[in-house]
Amino acid sequence: DLPMTTRDLLRVIADYAAVVAANRTYLIELDAAIGDADHGENLDRGMKAALDRLAEADPGTPADVLQTVATALISKVGGAAGPLYGTAFLRAATSVRGRGELGAADLVGALRAGLGGVVARGKAEVGDKTMVDAWDPAVQAAEQVVTAGGSTREALTAAADAAEEGMRATIPMIARKGRASYLGERSAGHQDPGATSSALLFRVFADVADH
Ligand code: ADP
Ligand code: MG
Ligand code: MG
Repeated sequence: DLPMTTRDLLRVIADYAAVVAANRTYLIELDAAIGDADHGENLDRGMKAALDRLAEADPGTPADVLQTVATALISKVGGAAGPLYGTAFLRAATSVRGRGELGAADLVGALRAGLGGVVARGKAEVGDKTMVDAWDPAVQAAEQVVTAGGSTREALTAAADAAEEGMRATIPMIARKGRASYLGERSAGHQDPGATSSALLFRVFADVADH
């Protein structure tokens, strides 16, 4: 089982930026139903800014990559999701500071730290119809695989599968956090945009680990 290098993480970010760009309209449509129709635009702008900054910064470690992405998202994305993802990347960076490359346990620790950042910032719980509904089961699934002695690839694949399941589980939920909560019961029947973009992120991690 190969560790994730700085180069691998740069690939994750570049691939995620491409996936967000390809899903920009989809994420906007999801947010149009229960929010203000900007999630795809927000994240696309943030990831493009992250790529620009990475090109300038030439990061030497995984923590440098994660921190550069975090600051780009926090400073360039106005919506709720920018600071939430930004805090996730920042906490993940802190958790792997000093490591030259990431083994399975490092990666799972970084994901757990990232989830902790989202929760610290947004105070959402599982069932509130937010990105936490994708992140929480994803992190739990990855931890279970690593605890059982599984590989990075297996852990990240389990995380991506669980995130997608969590994303779909947001459809019937009534939103209790963010703009969608203003709709009350009318938020039910729609998939949460942030849970969707989070599931896309976990799938990119799994795909990069698979190559
Ligand atoms: P905004 O709602 O400010 O326009 P975005 O559209 O970019 O921001 O992001 C909306 C997404 O942010 C939601 O779909 C949800 O997943 C996530 N979100 C909103 N508030 C919270 C929160 N308090 N905790 C976790 N996630 C949240
Ligand atoms: Mg929005
Ligand atoms: Mg907005």
